Amino acid sequence: MTSVLANNISGKVVVITGGSSGLGETTARHLASLGASVVLGARRIDKLEAIAADIRTAGGKVAVQATDVTSQDEVKALVNLAQERFGKVDVVINNAGLMAIAPLAEIRVDEWDRMIDINVKGLLYGVAAALPIFQEQGSGHFINISSVAGIKVFSPGGTVYSGTKFAVRAIAEGLRHEVGGKIRSTIISPGAVESELKHGSSDAQGAAFVKDFYQQNEIPSESVARAIAYAIEQPADVDINEIVLRPTVQEF
Ligand code: NDP
Repeated sequence: MTSVLANNISGKVVVITGGSSGLGETTARHLASLGASVVLGARRIDKLEAIAADIRTAGGKVAVQATDVTSQDEVKALVNLAQERFGKVDVVINNAGLMAIAPLAEIRVDEWDRMIDINVKGLLYGVAAALPIFQEQGSGHFINISSVAGIKVFSPGGTVYSGTKFAVRAIAEGLRHEVGGKIRSTIISPGAVESELKHGSSDAQGAAFVKDFYQQNEIPSESVARAIAYAIEQPADVDINEIVLRPTVQEF
């Protein structure tokens, strides 16, 4: 039997950045199975098309578009695709992210730039693209993926990553405060979740630390997909502002 809450996901149009792997992919599959129309953006279009084929085979509704979130125009085009294809935009999940772990003294300025461009500016481009649509519709929901590293500084090594994830929480909370009323803003802050994120460090020591940390702690990405579904399925007058979820064994 379909529950009342599941019905509050069915029919919604959900844009997900970083939908080609990890928790973006799992969330897309989960929400599509609950009846949402999902619109997925990421750079690897081949992966997006394979995921879309699976979703369609299972009877779901999906559109995909190659999207680099460091391009404001490409993020806008992704959100516009959702509106053109499905007639509205109910939820934008600002999920695309990069975690490059290295001590600050390594001076990996290129990686600092990439993390800021993807994790922070990419999120802001999602807001820029969808906020006018949400205001016009009189409804909408931003879901912003931070991290437990956005609550505690993941140092040494994760200082810049943490900085970007603190920024995600600050922007998401300010967004809620500024545009609330009809538009919802949720922060999701996971601990170690199985995905490709752990492969993002080019520094050998940082990569080894992350590999070990994830081996000891990680939980499946379905854990985050369920948390996101919980936020979306609430009635319009309930805004789940923040969810922090960790593997039970994780100390940090
Ligand atoms: P993955 O590496 O599996 O997924 C990252 C996604 O972001 C991919 O789909 C990737 O697609 C996309 N992406 C990366 N760069 C860009 C870009 N420039 N433009 C568009 N898309 C991009 O990791 P996760 O699923 O774990 O990461 C998702 C989010 O969850 C991130 O924000 C991450 O920080 C956060 N998070 C993850 C945790 C974990 O332990 N896994 C814990 C806490 C937070 P493509 O390469 O095809 O562009």
